[in-house]
Parts: sequence; structure tokens; C-alpha cells
Amino acid sequence: MSATVYVGLGSNEGDREAQLVAALYAMSRIDAVAVLACSSLFDSAPVGPEQPRFLNAVVALECGVAPQRLLCILQQIEEDLGRRRGGPRWSPRPIDLDILLWDEQVVADPNLQVPHLELHKRRFALEPLAQLAPEVKHPVLGMSVKELLGKLAPQDVHKREARWWPDASTARLPVNDS
Ligand code: AMP
Repeated sequence: MSATVYVGLGSNEGDREAQLVAALYAMSRIDAVAVLACSSLFDSAPVGPEQPRFLNAVVALECGVAPQRLLCILQQIEEDLGRRRGGPRWSPRPIDLDILLWDEQVVADPNLQVPHLELHKRRFALEPLAQLAPEVKHPVLGMSVKELLGKLAPQDVHKREARWWPDASTARLPVNDS
């Protein structure tokens, strides 16, 4: 049975947009997963200690694999794109992929919590998510994405023009699967 899954992407090292595009294309090639829609790009201030600014986006996936399997595949994509594991928590990263929502299901495993535990605090995740799924409910907090966004204090998060990113919410990607 397939689920609609929302994945947050972030990059603050190297060519940030190129890393997001590379991750998007890698996700489009996962068996039993299809990319349904992409948000716009957002430039955002880092949360926590001083480090370079992030470029963020959210994609919607139609997903026919289990949550743990998708996490494992996303971590492999992060590694393939140069992500080093085991470094300091707040260090810059070429790519960060987070499972934000899995339909309106809750996953509470030791290594995977969905909804993502920080989702409701982060404008850099909620702003792009609200472009794709404003009415989807956070199953733990019982509020829609749009309502959660409305409750957040202003944060330094700004929409940015795309160069290569398919900045057309809800449009199917021109992905060549051959
Ligand atoms: P990060 O440094 O943000 O990439 O965090 C990676 C760690 O978060 C991994 O050890 C994952 O097992 C864990 N994790 C827990 N919940 C999630 C989630 N919803 N999406 C991605 N990683 C998660």
C-alpha cells in the first residue's frame, strides 16, 4: 500500500542548489517511489551555532516502501552526495534529508520519529511544506500544516528563485527514468 510522504531537503555546503537537485533526482530513481511535487526553494538562517545559511525545499513522494526502508535509502543518498556521518551535530552538510510526514501516521522507533520531532518549530520546513500540503494534519499535534505555520514566530526564511530546481509546485517532474 502506498503512502504520501513529505521529505525535507537542506544543504549548506558547496553548491547548495546542485546538491538539492542531485538528491531530488536520486529520490526519483528509488524503486516503488515516485516524486509527486516539489516546493519552491527557501534560503534560511541556520538554527543553532554559527554556520553557513541553508537552502531548503520539500518534496512529496508516493511511497510504496516501509518507513525504515525509506530512511535507509535516504541515508545512502546523503552519503553518496558526500555527507560525512559522525561529525559534530551542527556542522555544515552538503545534504540533509528528513522524513517530515508519512500520511497522517505516527512512527516512534528509536532511530525514526515521524512526524519529525522539530517540524512544528521550523519555518524552513513548514513554509515549503505548506505549499504542497497546507491542509494535512500533524497527527500528534492535531493541527494542519497551515495552522502550525500561522503560530510560528517570524524566522529568517526567504523564498528564492531557482536556476535548475523544478520550481513548479504540484507539477510532475521531467525525470527520464531510462
Ligand atoms: P540529522 O543529523 O538531522 O541528519 O539526523 C540524522 C538522525 O536522525 C539519524 O540517526 C536518523 O535515524 C534520525 N532520525 C529520526 N527521525 C528522523 C526522520 N523523521 N527523518 C530523518 N532522520 C531521522
